[in-house]
Amino acid sequence: MKSFKILTFGCQMNEHDSEKLAGLLKAEGYRESERLEDAGLVLLNTCSIREKAEQKFYSALGKLRELKEQNPSMKIAVSGCIAQQEGNSVLKRAPFVDVLFGNQNIGRLPYLLEETGGQASGRRAATEFPEGYEHASIPASRGNAVTSFVNIMYGCDNFCTYCVVPFVRGRERSRKPGDIIREIEELVKSGCREVTLLGQNVNSYGIITPPSPSYIKRGTEGALLGNINERYCDFPSLLQMINAIDGLLRIRFVTSHPKDLSDSLIDAMANLPKVCNAIHLPLQSASDGVLGRMNRKYTFEDYMNRLGALKDAVPGLAVSTDIIAGFPGETDDDFRTTLRALEDIRYDGIFAFKYSRRPMTAAQRLPGHLPENVKDERLYKVLEVQDRIMREKIGARVGLVEEALVEGPDKSGARGRLTGKTTQGKIVNFDGPPELVGRLVQVKIIEGKKHSLAGKII
Ligand code: SF4
Repeated sequence: MKSFKILTFGCQMNEHDSEKLAGLLKAEGYRESERLEDAGLVLLNTCSIREKAEQKFYSALGKLRELKEQNPSMKIAVSGCIAQQEGNSVLKRAPFVDVLFGNQNIGRLPYLLEETGGQASGRRAATEFPEGYEHASIPASRGNAVTSFVNIMYGCDNFCTYCVVPFVRGRERSRKPGDIIREIEELVKSGCREVTLLGQNVNSYGIITPPSPSYIKRGTEGALLGNINERYCDFPSLLQMINAIDGLLRIRFVTSHPKDLSDSLIDAMANLPKVCNAIHLPLQSASDGVLGRMNRKYTFEDYMNRLGALKDAVPGLAVSTDIIAGFPGETDDDFRTTLRALEDIRYDGIFAFKYSRRPMTAAQRLPGHLPENVKDERLYKVLEVQDRIMREKIGARVGLVEEALVEGPDKSGARGRLTGKTTQGKIVNFDGPPELVGRLVQVKIIEGKKHSLAGKII
């Protein structure tokens, strides 16, 4: 039997793409292999958002080369943002790669594999950017039945100067609300209780761009979007429709742009009972000069006003963010402003990175690139401040009673131990019978750990 193993790098969007790739391969009769060494096909679904992610990919590719030398019949495929961005240069650099395809060509994987026919000389690449073609209709092979990712839109129009996403995932396109609702209703029938709606700028959902209807050829069959350039509904209205789906218990969404945190979205978060009390709202920097050079389209004051309104409307809201340390031209003062903001806002979690030059982006041409040691030092300080804040915040939850959605057995594999998430998105582990999976339970928090809580069902 044909077997595969997928290695995923990067964000939830990539994780969900990998679920779709697994779904496609299973439909073709492949089974998922536990170990890399046993897989007939190894697929690397890549991320190019930061230099470090790219380095990780090339290091994994180096290991696969050794495996392929021992087992020449193993096929290696590369997909995702690096494949889209670098195209044939990956094939030149790594001649042992059999198949390469971009984010827009996921649906073509079976055909590309078939075309290689197991021949070393049969290497295939597909990185075209067909407008209007999406892979929404590909059935995903989801890891957890209780929680699911659902794409509601693709691409991004914001062109933040450090980001490759608009170049590798294209301009913003939204799925039709009816298609999204149908997908979620089907998920609920198969046991899903929580959806995370995915979009690069999820809260600007609503613009449907025109497709190019001619682009349906062998291997590219997928869901074409609507055929008119129309605003079907905005994000708060979509949340309202999803909130009405029977059997669904919770709704999350990621990633929100601060400029699109509208009053109506704040109302929806405050009033729709299934929308969780959590938001990921990337700040990136608290310096207006840096935000301007990043093309983020808000000032620090705008950000604080919007966040303040949301916190007032949603008591107990958990907020997480992204921070880039050492953006070109960031002065000591700029950086201190960001550190002060972290102390004031007291985020529940952050993803912090040091700035790295990315191909195609405008920021790589900006003056004032900082030495690596300065960027390292700043990143270290951000993480140090945030570590302390998170320890304090997690400690403060001990003794509280929280509602948790039970997702499955605890990852440690301890007998009778379950894992779930609070509405704020915090992982909580507790003892309980497996029949509770998929249900909401009340848990008293008895211990705060570094990245999770321990509790007791009451
Ligand atoms: S909003 Fe900015 S950072 Fe986010 S995907 Fe779009 S361009 Fe990239």
